[in-house]
Amino acid sequence: MRKKSLLWQLYPSYLMIIILCLTGIGWYVSGVFRDFYFNQVREDLSARAKLVRFHVKNLSEPLNSQRVDPICKKLGRLISTRITIILPSGVVIGDSEKDPTLMDNHATRPEIRKALKGYTGASTRFSRTLRTRMMYVAIPLRSGDKITGVIRTSKPLSAIEKTLSEIRTKIIIGSLGAILFSALLCFVVSRRISKPVRTLSEGAERFAHGNLEYRISLPPSASSEFHILAETMNRMAKELELKIYELAQQGNELKTVLTSMSEGVVALDLDKRVILLNGAAARLFNVDCTKAQGKLLEELTRDTGIQSVVDKVISEKKPEYTEVQLRENSKKYLLIHATPLESIREKLVVGVLLVFNDITRLKQAEEIRKDFVANVSHELRTPITAIKGAAETLLDQKTNMNTDDYERFLKIIVRNTSRIGRIVEDLLILSQLEKWPERFAVEFEQINLSTLLLKAKDACSIYAEKKRIDIEVFCGNDLTVLGNPHFLEQALINLIDNAIKYSPSGSKVIVKCEKSEDEVIIRVIDQGCGIPPEHLPRVFERFYRVDKGRSRDEGGTGLGLAIVKHVAYLHHGRVKVESTPGEGSIFSIHIPRASSG
Ligand code: ADP
Repeated sequence: MRKKSLLWQLYPSYLMIIILCLTGIGWYVSGVFRDFYFNQVREDLSARAKLVRFHVKNLSEPLNSQRVDPICKKLGRLISTRITIILPSGVVIGDSEKDPTLMDNHATRPEIRKALKGYTGASTRFSRTLRTRMMYVAIPLRSGDKITGVIRTSKPLSAIEKTLSEIRTKIIIGSLGAILFSALLCFVVSRRISKPVRTLSEGAERFAHGNLEYRISLPPSASSEFHILAETMNRMAKELELKIYELAQQGNELKTVLTSMSEGVVALDLDKRVILLNGAAARLFNVDCTKAQGKLLEELTRDTGIQSVVDKVISEKKPEYTEVQLRENSKKYLLIHATPLESIREKLVVGVLLVFNDITRLKQAEEIRKDFVANVSHELRTPITAIKGAAETLLDQKTNMNTDDYERFLKIIVRNTSRIGRIVEDLLILSQLEKWPERFAVEFEQINLSTLLLKAKDACSIYAEKKRIDIEVFCGNDLTVLGNPHFLEQALINLIDNAIKYSPSGSKVIVKCEKSEDEVIIRVIDQGCGIPPEHLPRVFERFYRVDKGRSRDEGGTGLGLAIVKHVAYLHHGRVKVESTPGEGSIFSIHIPRASSG
């Protein structure tokens, strides 16, 4: 039901009060007038009766109709009043208007009865004789102590009632006018009272709708209480605005912190529903940050490790650390720090806060390190075992060993020692290239590529000649690159060395240098055995070999291409291999021209 406005509550009440008051006053005033007029008439009739008594008093006893009636008629005409004279027995002996002999006994009339008791009696009633409402006043007629009769004067009330009705009409008209005027006045007053209330309620409504910049302003005519209320409400809105701003600011700060965090953060309630989830966590679980709110943890991830850590924190109310491997997407390793969320006031556990650290790279690095250690140990174990075997044989059989065997064992020791030496050397180069931040301290200079290629060719020439392999170099004289000559030469030697190593004798190795729009490309092309396609993606890994036996026989360490890759990375470049088994391979180093000439 629609509630009435204050104006329509105040106005009818005021109007009702005024109508009631004016009606009451009108009724009272008309009563007062009526009483006043009646009293006046009564007094007048009494005075007239006394005048008649004065005339009748001197008549000798007994009073009779023949003497009294003419006086009544005469005086009645003179003073325009009906005069009746009655004996104590109630018999009318004189009447100014009628024949007394025809009139009833008046002993029972109230005014007569009272006058017979010695008082002035008065009565108002309908006269059957004159057929009109009359006022009667009767006074006793005495002779000594004895009441000898009653003199009654009477007057029709029609004149008084006419006057009274005129007065009543005037009072009613006056009251109606007053009611109309006060209705108008009431409306104005009610509006004046209700208007500030309406302004206040409108202001409050605006505040409730969040428009806290709005200020309530009341007309100066509004009462001081309303002004105080408006000021208080304005102050409250201002403080609320400030508080909301502060809260929003805090919220934004928190949001910024959460967004910029690399750790995934998820807050859950006790039903394991998401209260909050930051961008990193959204990426981790592959969900939309905004849609994740209110979702169950199970909808986020099916990982049992995460579920159980959450359950444990909820039941034990203690922080938990754990490592899990997400199997759902991209097999990530996560370090989870789960803490109970406590309400600030009651210190009750209301949920769980999960912080996820992506430790996949750490794990991978650990795996790589483990593999590397295993690989190095494995690589070193073979030559060391060979050296140990040869050395022990030499020691055991030093007296009865022929020169050929002696030389053979010594050669085994030398060959394996130099193999260990090569592995260690390559490992040192690799560690130099991988070390951080030392790699950034590597000095770069403008290198003439033609000179660099010829130097690398020279370094491999003995080996090439041994295998009767021709190395052809094609490079413009003016082609330069910004880089480290030592590492670049090493990378080229590795590539040319491999090309010779895995090519049949009598074949050709071509070393070419070109520049494209944004890169300088050094290519080493051979006509060797080539690499099957399934091995191509892994040939740049450390200790990865396609043909282990051949590599070892040729004195390979399995680290040559890994060094090439890292040298290219050092120059912000990349490596590439194209190969057709049985036809040959093309290894290339691409160096961006931003760092080249
Ligand atoms: P290695 O010391 O064994 O040569 P690398 O890292 O230099 O180690 O090369 C890794 C593997 O890639 C080699 O064992 C070899 O099987 C293959 N490979 C490298 N270069 C060539 C090439 N030019 N032709 C054919 N296979 C090659």
